[in-house]
Amino acid sequence: MDKARLMIDGIKKNQLIQKIVSKGNVKKFLSSHYSVSLSVLLVLTLTILTFSHVLNFINVQALLIEEQELATRSFEVYFDGIHVGDVRDKQAIEDILTELKTSIQRSNNSEIAISNTIEYVASHTEDINIDSHNEILTRIRSQIEYNILAYCIKVDGEIVGRLLTLEEAEKILEDIKAPYVQLLEDGSIMDLSFAEEVEIVREEVSKFQIDEYDQLLMYLQKGTTEEKTHIVESGENVWVIANKYGITVEELRAANNGSNLSLIYPGDELSLIVPKPFIAIQTIEVAVFEEKIPFETEYELVSWMYNDEYSTKNSGENGLKQVEAYVIRKNGIEVSREVLTETVLQEPVTKVMYNGTQDPPPKKGTGYFINPLPSGSVTSRYGPRWGGFHQGLDIGGRTGTSIKAADGGTVIYSGWFGDYGYMVEIDHGGGFTTRYGHCSQLYVSVGEKVYQGKTIATVGNTGWSTGPHVHFEIRKYGSTVNPQSYIGTQYR
Ligand SMILES: [Zn+2]
Repeated sequence: MDKARLMIDGIKKNQLIQKIVSKGNVKKFLSSHYSVSLSVLLVLTLTILTFSHVLNFINVQALLIEEQELATRSFEVYFDGIHVGDVRDKQAIEDILTELKTSIQRSNNSEIAISNTIEYVASHTEDINIDSHNEILTRIRSQIEYNILAYCIKVDGEIVGRLLTLEEAEKILEDIKAPYVQLLEDGSIMDLSFAEEVEIVREEVSKFQIDEYDQLLMYLQKGTTEEKTHIVESGENVWVIANKYGITVEELRAANNGSNLSLIYPGDELSLIVPKPFIAIQTIEVAVFEEKIPFETEYELVSWMYNDEYSTKNSGENGLKQVEAYVIRKNGIEVSREVLTETVLQEPVTKVMYNGTQDPPPKKGTGYFINPLPSGSVTSRYGPRWGGFHQGLDIGGRTGTSIKAADGGTVIYSGWFGDYGYMVEIDHGGGFTTRYGHCSQLYVSVGEKVYQGKTIATVGNTGWSTGPHVHFEIRKYGSTVNPQSYIGTQYR
């Protein structure tokens, strides 16, 4: 450009260029140029123009066209595909958008992002066709669309709420923690945090998606905006109220910000909405409580019992310990605890049981009956009694005394049996069965094979009975026989 300008010979030509450029009108320039050039050509011909002068003139012409092109350079502006005006400079549009954005942000009290598309098409036009700032601003303003740059609450990667300002977003997180802050201050918990990953992120959203603060707070805390309450009546406690609505005491506490509800008074209003919160508060507290220490059982082997027999030598006793633990709760509901210290208050007493070493006899009939309650004494014999017939032998004994199988065999009944009360019946083979009635406890079940002398039940007073005893029956092919004729004898 400067080089080209230096090539121009004479001040007149420079003045001409400046004049044309400042006019910025192609047609004017061309018409004036031709008339000027013709006259100049005549003068130059007459004054014997040199060849170099002609060359200079061609350069001037090229320069003039180039200058003219620069002067008319422009951009057509398209807003969402619609032509809204022509400008010399893109900055003019940027300024308009900034002005509009500022105005919208002020009226919305939030930051926004304009969502229309803006395209520029390079072009040429004269000054007269260039649109003013206000003309374009007016056309754009009616078409403008925008999103709110909202502050969103993101929980575990998912946006659960949208607010206009950062202050609101920060406040809502504080408000969610607020019910627990009191617990922190009074020392009943030692730490609180969000159980989920909670962040505040910026996202473009439609203004219709912006949440109302109070609604969002309730939603985040309870998972619902539903309200359901109970007014405490005289004489009610947490258990009564929880039971009334079919929820647990823990749930009722959780519905009331995790308060333990130990002090409730008639007229108090309790929430019944068990929260399913989007944001859970995790608290850690130190709890001190007592816990039982279960006793252990040891076995003492004795030769005078069969190896499937047991009896108690010393009964055990549970101990007691004081436990200090971290209790971790989510929204007031315990999720885990970690024991810190344990102090034994009372040692447990080990239970000792005898267990035999002898192999038991074969679990089948020997053909010989023993007395099922040898420590007892006969209280009523087999035979006619009270105008009827007593089908068995009654042997009295203290309740709980072991009743032994008179011979080995297979248990064919074990349970309640009318007037017999709790009863066991054993099949010994060869057509012989035995019955043991009025028991307090039964130790065998149907199908079980037992050996002779096996403890099958304990003496009791169940069914039609006037005192603790065993009603012992022996049946041969279903009919009773006199047990006293069989005990101590080979029956088959
Ligand atoms: Zn009887």
